[in-house]
Amino acid sequence: MASGQEEQPDRRGPQQHGFVVARPFGIPVYVSPWPFIIACVFIAIWYANDLSGALSGGLRYAVAAAFVLLLYVSVLAHELSHSVVARSFGLPVRRILLHPLGGFSEIEREAPTPGREFAVAAAGPALSLALGALGWGLAQVAHYGVTGALVRQLMFANLVVAAFNLLPGLPLDGGRMLRAVIWKVTGRPNAATIAAAWVGRALAVALLAIPFFSGGLAGGDFVSGLWVIVIAGFMWVGAGQSIKATRFRERLPALQARRLARRAISVPASTPLAEAVRQADETGARAIVVVDHDNAPLGIVNEAAVMATPPQRRPWVDTGSMARTIEPAMVLSADLQGMALLDAIRRVPATEYLLVESSGEVVGVLAARDLDQVFAGG
Ligand SMILES: [Zn+2]
Repeated sequence: MASGQEEQPDRRGPQQHGFVVARPFGIPVYVSPWPFIIACVFIAIWYANDLSGALSGGLRYAVAAAFVLLLYVSVLAHELSHSVVARSFGLPVRRILLHPLGGFSEIEREAPTPGREFAVAAAGPALSLALGALGWGLAQVAHYGVTGALVRQLMFANLVVAAFNLLPGLPLDGGRMLRAVIWKVTGRPNAATIAAAWVGRALAVALLAIPFFSGGLAGGDFVSGLWVIVIAGFMWVGAGQSIKATRFRERLPALQARRLARRAISVPASTPLAEAVRQADETGARAIVVVDHDNAPLGIVNEAAVMATPPQRRPWVDTGSMARTIEPAMVLSADLQGMALLDAIRRVPATEYLLVESSGEVVGVLAARDLDQVFAGG
């Protein structure tokens, strides 16, 4: 049950998150129906089989269904615990995503101090432990029968959730706690993420080794072995994402619109392309803006379209036909940087943007591929 910030090193739009199934404390809880239904049916059948010695057919499936429902309610409570603590520190929570392997609390900002980071991360396992303790207490009262079995099973499940999530590697909660400790000791949050993510990868490899050494895959317990492989894969990928997100954050300061601006020349739309390219080459400009009679920008010439036009055709092509009309959202302040710059270009995906001063004066053109270069380089 990870929690964290959604910062992808690409420029995709909002992703599909499934349906909102509840809004506890005003936080929308999203579920992707199909993977979830498959997982629920799978777990219910597995658990019903486990009960086959003790219960008759119909009742067995009713108990198994109740178990699956309460299991995911436990997981949701774990996530809510992260989210509510985060919100109490003034960190906005965008949503909770529930998926078959657990949940994810999407918190919009990173905790400002290692102490708070530790508290947000520890809140989930603490709640799972509390639910486990509650189950243990109830089991002392309900010794026998269906209720007793169910309570014991849920107690066990919550203790497993707590123990697993306390493993000290990203993307698990224990990994975030470890990260907070390293951050506190070294004062370097990014280095702490990388270290905790590598511990996460080591744990994933160690987890993967279990079914092989115990003979789980070769023996009868094929399903458990498969389950461990899926979880190990989930951890490996999650740790990799943490590393990627950190590299991304480290590069953000280099994203400054003004620094990436390409010098541009202005030409009327009817200018032959060959002439516009000649003027650009002569002045060392790397972008061409199409302007009207009053010299106001109308469009930005698409670099790829120019490259695709053979030189012998360029005298016969109007520059205006190679330009994309400038929409209001394609005009950006030259002072934009970092996440604000990425957010601005996410709004209208384009290959080129016009950069202006607050006075409206044109600074130059921002090419999306120059932004990609910042992430690709080094
Ligand atoms: Zn958690």
